[in-house]
Amino acid sequence: MPDDLSIEKRPGRVAPNLTPATRASFGWDEARGFLDGLPGGAGLNIAYECADRHAASGRVALRWRGASGERRDVTFGELARLSNRFANVLQSRGVKPGERVFLLLPRIPALYVAVLGTLKARGVVCTLFSAFGPEPIAQRMGIGDARVVVTTPSLYARKVAPIRDRLPGVTCVLVAGEGVVPVGTESLDAALEQASDLWTIPPTSPEDPSILHFTSGTTGTPKGALHVHGAIVHHIASARFALDLHPEDVFWCTADPGWVTGTSYGIVAPLALGVTSVVSEGEFDAEAWARILADEKVSVWYTAPTAVRMLMKAWSGHRELPHLRFVASVGEPLNPEAVRWGIEAFGLPIHDNWWQTETGGILIANTAADPIKPGSMGRPLPGIEAVIVRVTDGVVEVLPRGEEGEIAIRRGWPGMFREYIGNPERTARCFAGDWYLTGDLAREDDDRYFWFVGRKDDVIKTSGHLVGPFEVEKVLTEHPAVVEAAVIGKPDPVAYELIKGFVVLRSGFEASEALRLDILGHARKRLGAAIAPKELDIVASLPRTRSGKILRRLLKARELGLAEGDTSTLETP
Ligand code: AMP
Repeated sequence: MPDDLSIEKRPGRVAPNLTPATRASFGWDEARGFLDGLPGGAGLNIAYECADRHAASGRVALRWRGASGERRDVTFGELARLSNRFANVLQSRGVKPGERVFLLLPRIPALYVAVLGTLKARGVVCTLFSAFGPEPIAQRMGIGDARVVVTTPSLYARKVAPIRDRLPGVTCVLVAGEGVVPVGTESLDAALEQASDLWTIPPTSPEDPSILHFTSGTTGTPKGALHVHGAIVHHIASARFALDLHPEDVFWCTADPGWVTGTSYGIVAPLALGVTSVVSEGEFDAEAWARILADEKVSVWYTAPTAVRMLMKAWSGHRELPHLRFVASVGEPLNPEAVRWGIEAFGLPIHDNWWQTETGGILIANTAADPIKPGSMGRPLPGIEAVIVRVTDGVVEVLPRGEEGEIAIRRGWPGMFREYIGNPERTARCFAGDWYLTGDLAREDDDRYFWFVGRKDDVIKTSGHLVGPFEVEKVLTEHPAVVEAAVIGKPDPVAYELIKGFVVLRSGFEASEALRLDILGHARKRLGAAIAPKELDIVASLPRTRSGKILRRLLKARELGLAEGDTSTLETP
């Protein structure tokens, strides 16, 4: 293992939150001490910690930078007031605690107001990536039993109106921002305008549900991982240790809140710690990003390996970013060259860290306090017991250091998801005894650094987004010319993997370039650009096991020209 390549860091301008002493003495109760709790001992509510308790500070919570150059600073006081109004809007529409409010919004201030307002009303909030097409949206709103949808007029027309008849539980659609208010929806601005500024958050238990995030497995529909208000204890502790957030920081988390990183660290953690966050509505653009880092005086930056690799291509020479002091990344393996590129480009290495939708927050990280081992995800954070295991018939065996196996986490950390909604069987499969089984394969070295090896299943990681192959295959087979389909993640130097599809045509259809493009276009329209296949081959048959399961792994091996392994159970060679 390349320990000798570890990067020793010079002392930074700010003393790291994580020291050997804080590591040794850490307990979750101590982390809870960074929060106030609801007045009068009424429990713990994420929205109160994120807005109300900083309301009098006068500080800026969000520095919003719009896609067309607009600028708006939102103070903690404004966030507290507007989220009160949003809670009143929900109450006046009859929304009850526990009911689900789905947000399909670009990164605009209304998104943050709606997240906090829903939590204040003790609703469950689910943020969906606005680049999803109608199909993934319908699936998720259906599984999540959406009661309210908050979106924009244009997203409504393109993505929600076509599926509205599949969502009988939706009784209220609020649209934010510019444009004519479509029939069957109401203006969010008008509703907020009429609502009261006053709202008392009802008693909230740390075990009450708060945020729902969808994630994907190899088979079946997406899984709705349900989190609780008490997860905020993990969000703030991990943000202090793995992102080294201090109250005076200007923080930029580039992830969209449609993905868990964008809520845990784009909304909850920085707001709860009273830190100013930059919110950029625009899509990735290397020049624009470099400008944001410089002009907004970003001091802590949390991003993703795909973005880092795209920046590596576009960035020229060394740029001084005197305010930047800490950079971290998550979502897929961060190659050692990318870790070191940061030093060349702006004088700081990039700290990789690891977690999942289900874990709610960062569990393993290269921190400000420790040397970085480029290519490693780092070490477990305080309060987290992570091991490498082999599971045989439900029995967990912890493996010695150096051996490859599955990452397992001792259950009980506050950010852990509580269930996949409506799916107790799939929830149960993630646990064995005291351990949560992550589905990721890795090795742990003698210094307790973890090294990512791969996934146990066939899920695909593309540009930091986890995509279930089944969801894509289902849409491909809905094309009239396709009888069966399989998709794989094909290694890509920038996006880590790109989605490649293989389809078999129905009899009577002839393979042609026009048909291939038509199938790709169909998938893009239904799924959205983020999860549609980028490449597609029309093939005569797909390899299957004798029991009929498509062997995606074999397709992948063939695509990459690798050894095909044991094919004795193959039906279609
Ligand atoms: P998600 O639930 O969408 O956040 O995706 C979680 C998955 O992303 C993990 O199970 C890993 O497979 C992958 N992942 C996240 N962070 C890293 C990392 N630092 N290195 C390698 N893979 C990662």
